[in-house]
Amino acid sequence: MDDAAREARIARNESRFREINEQLEADLRRLPGDPEMVSFVCECGNRACADLVQMTFEEYEGVRSNSHTFVVVPGHEMPEVEEVVQRTVRFHVVAKVERTQRIVETTDPRP
Ligand SMILES: [Zn+2]
Repeated sequence: MDDAAREARIARNESRFREINEQLEADLRRLPGDPEMVSFVCECGNRACADLVQMTFEEYEGVRSNSHTFVVVPGHEMPEVEEVVQRTVRFHVVAKVERTQRIVETTDPRP
């Protein structure tokens, strides 16, 4: 597989996890009370990854407000397609490098 195809595949995987988290957030928001920490799925490019990241809604919204950024378990970032823009002990926030941005933009569930 060439690099472009590989990058596209990684970007699509990450977009898929983002959709799962969007749904998760919507479901949890309907529950009474606001849980302090929520488990979101890692949005890294590895399709087999099922790890969870603990975040507050506020933190997740901060990541989601930019369609180029994703949340991953620290160490799950893929330096060839993304760069870490925020590091915490619980999660890292990664931003797509320019050439894969178009894919993640067109798959963003939020218009
Ligand atoms: Zn992961």
